[in-house]
Amino acid sequence: MRDLTCKQEEKLFLPFIRDTLDNRTKRQFLNHLDHCDQCLEELSIQFLVTIGMQRLENGDAFDLNRELRGRIATERRHLHILDSLQGALFAAQAITLLLSVLIFLIVVVSF
Ligand SMILES: [Zn+2]
Repeated sequence: MRDLTCKQEEKLFLPFIRDTLDNRTKRQFLNHLDHCDQCLEELSIQFLVTIGMQRLENGDAFDLNRELRGRIATERRHLHILDSLQGALFAAQAITLLLSVLIFLIVVVSF
């Protein structure tokens, strides 16, 4: 998978915060955050500004840094679940194929 540059990553800050990224892009986005502290730092700031302004208007109490970490963890979990599902789907297809071959062999052998 090709890695995003910091500049490409920056453009995705707002879509990520607003949760409008598709899963593929989100995965690339999170991968970049794994090894780029600078973008993580800038995302925190962007998150604070974007969500913080909304909260100030609503008068809610908040711990935005924790919220962002929670958000990143949640997105990772979602992608992980998605991966597991795709893995399970693949396994199911493999088993189906195996069974077909087996049945074919049994039929061939029994005649
Ligand atoms: Zn970066």
